[in-house]
Amino acid sequence: LLKPYKSVCIVGSGPAGFYTAQHLLKAHQNVQVDVYERLPVPFGLVRFGVAPDHPEVKNVINTFTQTAKHPRCSFYGNVNVGEDVSVDELQEAYHAIVLSYGAEGNRSVGVPGEDLPGVYSAKDFVGWYNGLPSCQELRPDLSCETAVILGQGNVALDVARILLSPLDALKKTDITQPALEALAQSRVCRVLIVGRRGPMQVASTIKELREMVNLPGTRPEMVAADFDGVAEALKDLPRPRKRLTELMLKTALEMPTEKEQERRKKASRIWGFRFFRSPVEILAEPGCNRVAGVRLAVNKLEGSGEKAQAVLTGEVEDVPCGLVISSIGYRSLPIDPTVPFDSRRAIVPNSMGRVHNAAGLYCSGWLKTGPTGVIATTMNSSFDTARSLLEDVESGKLDVSSAKPGSHMISSLLEKRGVKPVTFSDWEKIDDLETRRGEVSGKPREKILTVAAMLKVARG
Ligand code: FAD
Repeated sequence: LLKPYKSVCIVGSGPAGFYTAQHLLKAHQNVQVDVYERLPVPFGLVRFGVAPDHPEVKNVINTFTQTAKHPRCSFYGNVNVGEDVSVDELQEAYHAIVLSYGAEGNRSVGVPGEDLPGVYSAKDFVGWYNGLPSCQELRPDLSCETAVILGQGNVALDVARILLSPLDALKKTDITQPALEALAQSRVCRVLIVGRRGPMQVASTIKELREMVNLPGTRPEMVAADFDGVAEALKDLPRPRKRLTELMLKTALEMPTEKEQERRKKASRIWGFRFFRSPVEILAEPGCNRVAGVRLAVNKLEGSGEKAQAVLTGEVEDVPCGLVISSIGYRSLPIDPTVPFDSRRAIVPNSMGRVHNAAGLYCSGWLKTGPTGVIATTMNSSFDTARSLLEDVESGKLDVSSAKPGSHMISSLLEKRGVKPVTFSDWEKIDDLETRRGEVSGKPREKILTVAAMLKVARG
């Protein structure tokens, strides 16, 4: 005998939302999962974060599509939870809510000059070249030669790579047309990637570093002294860190092969890490309201390994540049005052995805863990959340005894409020048009750049 249907609602359709849904649907025959998404298009940072020249990473979309088309799953795009419908209302309609709305805010550098024209957050810059509707007005000024990126994680390297990639390579990706045109006019030919600690603490992975090292038309420019003592410390490093550091050492210090020397000689663009530096001020051009440089404090390290701390030496150094991109992390934001939120850690406080002091509320993805880790990390932690939820059903901790109205109730609320959700087959119309538009120019897709235009296609 089938027990009554359990209806679960998921907020956000990025990897966390879809992986949580996938696990719930697979593990249980009588659970209905409804996914609510703020934008008319699904997949979160897979569409709007992952770099356009990483198409293989986006293959997860195929799995998410299968989940969305599962007979017990429904997608409701264009629904902003917290505005169009409250979490309280969702709780009335569903047995359980999984919040997986990601990290849409930004950690600010917190130094004077941060608001000057010519200073952008990586979040906005990435959103701009990836077609996030809210970032299309950014139109970054790329008329300078030197760009400084603050932060040394994978996002920083994505941005550096996009700034320096040969246009021919980008033309074959799903980067937006306005971004392609701006990059075609770009004069940026030197990108410095600044970190407060040393080569053994960079936050990127080897794949991204290797892509920089091999980027056609570019050569590395490092500071040899930054690598003092690094070779000696190699043997004690854990394996992934060791391989990453070896590649950095080789790039910075080793005599290149003849072929590589030839390649570097021809290169017209430069990239390099600058270690042991923290920004203290973004400098303006005298008499002119735009960025002219960054003042960096020189640090030394106390301690070693991952835990090493950057300590100020008192020295500062000015680096002239016309573009600053801060890439020091994303940050989750609260979307509804009734949901507990830890503003210091910028996550929803939880144990294994169970939101503290809030029965029936769960969380997954970057909102649960903080904005770190790759899609595979997000997948595992989302499966954990789904397991917690199912355990609570089994143990009776989550009350599923009474029937819940689910999407019936929410749909009529939304209708009253004039909100018209986008279904998954509506999204497929957008997808289809984007793919066809892309074909014309030899790209996998040409993204639609405004919510209004997306809605027009969805309803056409
Ligand atoms: P998100 O992907 O951000 O999804 C959250 C979703 O919630 C979004 O669709 C959003 O629109 C929606 N939402 C927000 N607010 C609301 C609301 N109020 N109501 C309804 N819906 C809402 N990982 C890799 O493995 N490989 C890579 O190459 C890679 N590149 C990356 C590049 C960048 C620039 C970034 C930032 C991350 C990258 N990652 C990469 C990491 C990967 O994107 C994350 O691990 C993953 O996307 C986190 O998933 P999430 O579902 O928690 O968040």
